[in-house]
Amino acid sequence: MKCTRCKKPAVVKIRRHNSAFCPTCFDLFFSRQVENAIRRGQMFTRDDRILLGVSGGKDSMALWHYLVEAGYRVEAIHFDLGIGDHSLHSRSLVEEFARQDSLPLWIVEVAKEIGWSIPDLTRRIRRPTCSLCGMIKRHLLNRFAWENSFSVYTTGHNLDDEAAILLGNVLHWQEDYLAHQSPVLPSPHPKMVKKVKPFYTLTGEEIKIYSSLHHLSYIDERCPLSRKAKTWDYKEALELLEERSPGTKHMFWLGFVEKGQSYFTKEVSPPELRECSVCGMPTTQEKCSFCKTMERLERKGASE
Ligand code: SF4
Ligand SMILES: [Zn+2]
Ligand SMILES: [Zn+2]
Repeated sequence: MKCTRCKKPAVVKIRRHNSAFCPTCFDLFFSRQVENAIRRGQMFTRDDRILLGVSGGKDSMALWHYLVEAGYRVEAIHFDLGIGDHSLHSRSLVEEFARQDSLPLWIVEVAKEIGWSIPDLTRRIRRPTCSLCGMIKRHLLNRFAWENSFSVYTTGHNLDDEAAILLGNVLHWQEDYLAHQSPVLPSPHPKMVKKVKPFYTLTGEEIKIYSSLHHLSYIDERCPLSRKAKTWDYKEALELLEERSPGTKHMFWLGFVEKGQSYFTKEVSPPELRECSVCGMPTTQEKCSFCKTMERLERKGASE
């Protein structure tokens, strides 16, 4: 197998692009994908101060490595969710990566911020775990980004993640979610940071190859609380289709971004935001979900 670009021996094959690459040309392919995504979506420039969410998984660690190498001004944030060994491993890996190259890293301990770890919360509040965890993280993230004057927040979500989320949104015809599933979510309020996903055109496999060529360490275990997450079923279903017809995930997700999403943004009017009467963060109601959850916890604590 020869490299499609330079004809030297190839080490990776990208079936959906019908290409094979040597390590140097793979890096070029990878950086072109990321830089095109950043430019096309006007995600950020080298002058922006970028906040990057790092979980310790392969996607966020690869994005961290990429942005630093490419000369972007990036500061990482890690949420320590208090999920037993999983959180301990993730945090120490992220801290070690930052320490090696003296990279700026913020650690937010959920239990310190709100008084409860995520497993504690799920025992007390009847709500699907990932929805509860996601809501808490979104609230803490928006607050952190606003208090520390970051204009953009970026994550390592890749093409596989987005295709699986899209499948779930389509199966349930979640019009509101479809209107907001985008690689670039502009800030709808000064206290809500713009959110971008520069890896949205790259598959998990391609990010794994990048990680292995650059000898990056990452946590290769699922969050133990995610066992019931439907997204894993959608990922498996799409993998089956991809196996039989390479390029299916690409067409599904990138076709939606290019052609489909605008139908939903036209139909769904943007929510009217006001400031929460308790914490002052943006919400569509009088009190935000975060403050309502905290109040429920206090009531429960008082009655126990
Ligand atoms: S899988 Fe669910 S519970 Fe685990 S970190 Fe992600 S959102 Fe939180
Ligand atoms: Zn080559
Ligand atoms: Zn609030």
